[in-house]
Amino acid sequence: MKGARAGVALLACAALPFILTEYQATLAGFVGIAAIAALGLVLLTGVSGQTSFGHATFLGLAAYTTAWMSRYGGWPPLAGLPAGLAITGGTAFLLGLITSRISGHYLPVATIAWCASFFYLFGVLPGLGGFNGFGEIPPLFPGITRGTAAALIGVVLIAAFLLCANLLTSRTGRAMRALAQSRIMAESLGIDTARLARSTFVLAALLAGVAGWLFAHVQRYVSPAPFGLSASIEYVFMVVIGGASQLAGAVIGAAIVVLLRDQLTELLPRLLGSSGNFETVAFSIAVILLLHYAPRGIAPALFRGRGSALPDRHTVALPTRAMPADGALVLETTALEKRFGGLLAASGIGLSVCAGEIVALIGPNGAGKSTTFNLISGALSPNAGSIRMLGHDIQGRGARFIARQGLARTFQHVKLLPDASVLDNIALGAHLRGRAGMLRSMLRLDRGEEAALLHTARIHADRVGLTDVLPDPAGSLPLGRQRLVEIARGLCLDPCVFLLDEPAAGLRLQEKQALADLLRALRDEGMAILLVEHDMDFVMGLADRVAVMDFGQMIAEGRPEQVQDNPIVQEAYLGGVA
Ligand code: ADP
Ligand code: MG
Repeated sequence: MKGARAGVALLACAALPFILTEYQATLAGFVGIAAIAALGLVLLTGVSGQTSFGHATFLGLAAYTTAWMSRYGGWPPLAGLPAGLAITGGTAFLLGLITSRISGHYLPVATIAWCASFFYLFGVLPGLGGFNGFGEIPPLFPGITRGTAAALIGVVLIAAFLLCANLLTSRTGRAMRALAQSRIMAESLGIDTARLARSTFVLAALLAGVAGWLFAHVQRYVSPAPFGLSASIEYVFMVVIGGASQLAGAVIGAAIVVLLRDQLTELLPRLLGSSGNFETVAFSIAVILLLHYAPRGIAPALFRGRGSALPDRHTVALPTRAMPADGALVLETTALEKRFGGLLAASGIGLSVCAGEIVALIGPNGAGKSTTFNLISGALSPNAGSIRMLGHDIQGRGARFIARQGLARTFQHVKLLPDASVLDNIALGAHLRGRAGMLRSMLRLDRGEEAALLHTARIHADRVGLTDVLPDPAGSLPLGRQRLVEIARGLCLDPCVFLLDEPAAGLRLQEKQALADLLRALRDEGMAILLVEHDMDFVMGLADRVAVMDFGQMIAEGRPEQVQDNPIVQEAYLGGVA
């Protein structure tokens, strides 16, 4: 399917030199160049959630490198590509090291700062022609026509598009989407979010670098202006208008912005009777209107984003971890403490869970149960106390390390990728069981591993009863079933300890019974399960032991019937609820 579409697109490119006028071919070339750069911004902003107002800088770095080498150094234009990419990628890597520590609204501000710096650098570095730039840059090939250049750019765009599409339906692509959704969730599945954010940043810059290289040899003139802040903002406009969540959005947005700018630069001054950069104003108005009426851009209205395809039934499943011996102490906390400012959210927490045991943690709202989960899973660091898992100290080791030891968790407030399919959401849980990185995924060298990951995801979807909704967006499910997606995702990690924060909330009675059966089956396989739950019938019928928290303290612990009869517990919790 994808191959057929790519074939049609290639044929269309081959026809360009014969059907377009010189002027149209020039415009088509600029649309293609802008689209290649915008693909990078879709990956960076739309997919992995990092806003950049400095994208044009990377076009500039590659464009100036190749322009200088071919004009003054006598190098062939093709040699400028690897050199330009090396400089662009290297700069992006260094900027990424600095900016990946910056989060929230400060990141876009930082990108504006370095975009402005590079703009002046291009203008003042000796030998680059100052703010007027320099020309007489050799074309891609001697004697190349505008039409042939447009066709070539089209071929590069198609290749870049396919590589990016491969990436998005892969282990790394799923992880990139998780980055945008919740870094805490991503880390709990073993994803190195800081590193992935940096490599996405470099990849986006490399795509811009390819665009910049083409730009220099097609325009045959470089100056700082096309690589400054307003150009960067235009790339943001492109992905916002086209739709930042889909690769097609980059192409649609690039076409609209480049073609509209071409029309408006002629039309507006004539209409308004004076000259000026009115097209920027027109774009801004268009973007505001669009954000109002179609906040996700045009592409999602035209295409449904496609998730990973189901693998064949006979795919081999991934190898599984050896479970600890039945009854072995798997998880133990001692005197765990967490303060939020003046609030003691957890104090003196001593919990233990053995292999093949279900322990329930109960208590009124605000008792500190979720905080305890966050401490154990490494989402928060304790102020005091220790956590041992399988005999190793894990406190302060971070969520990723703890996930690798075999601890999975769900969240009280579900953290899913709402637009991604149920299958992709569940497969995200198997991240640590795959290895393929960006390059392998882009080149489709990851297919065997990918099929095994998806197959594993399907097995766990079957187990929790989600087989019928695998291709649906996870966000379209009722909340109770979204919890089941999180449970299946956790199981994909192949855990020996599973922490479930209110897994039965929002489930119907039959679904609760099915969940209880599943948890019993997991226990019988030797998993250690710690769960927070408010439904007392559910807890009392399921748990082997119950621990009760109130005001950050453990107030009781024992077998379900002991705890139920404990007057302190009835006072603190059960009495209040019943
Ligand atoms: P539970 O899960 O038992 O309902 P929590 O562990 O979520 O309770 O919360 C325990 C207490 O800690 C509450 O008073 C809550 O407001 C506070 N708390 C939880 N997380 C944070 C946080 N990140 N920052 C500040 N206070 C928090
Ligand atoms: Mg809670």
